[in-house]
Amino acid sequence: MDEQAKANLIASIQKQIAEIMQQLTAAKEILAAKKGINYITVHHTAGNKTDTDVNVDKQGALDGYPKSSLGHTMAYHYFIDWNGAITHAREDTEFSQHARGVSKGNIGICLAGNFMNYSPSLGQLNSLKSLLDSLKAKYYIDNKEIHPHSYWNNTACPGAYLKDWLNNNYV
Ligand SMILES: [Zn+2]
Repeated sequence: MDEQAKANLIASIQKQIAEIMQQLTAAKEILAAKKGINYITVHHTAGNKTDTDVNVDKQGALDGYPKSSLGHTMAYHYFIDWNGAITHAREDTEFSQHARGVSKGNIGICLAGNFMNYSPSLGQLNSLKSLLDSLKAKYYIDNKEIHPHSYWNNTACPGAYLKDWLNNNYV
């Protein structure tokens, strides 16, 4: 190999190393942005359309969940009432046991109603979609990392109607 060929080879290897370092930096930035959040899990109250953050908090307190830094006792990070109003109940990184054994790094979203028997309201679905899309972008979460509660545990939650919607919109 002559001197020019050696110099070209070295330059080519240096370029590849620089590209790998750039990719590593980008991967580190994504990991930092994720803050350990890898999944989103969707629930329903299995109660009534009239369920509110206040009565879901009351049930959470009875179930022994600790008060969150945002002042709520429900196990979920977000609650969406029948009209589509979103309550941010726990910081996204705050641990809470909303899906047995798999709640670490897993954001829980609960919708008011029983979707074994009827569909969520249009307002709820619009709010859920915008919440899911913003959390996906913020924490680099893929559609395949968004699950109904029944994916993790032996439960009917969040009901066939909401499961179908999730399967149709986040596959
Ligand atoms: Zn659930």
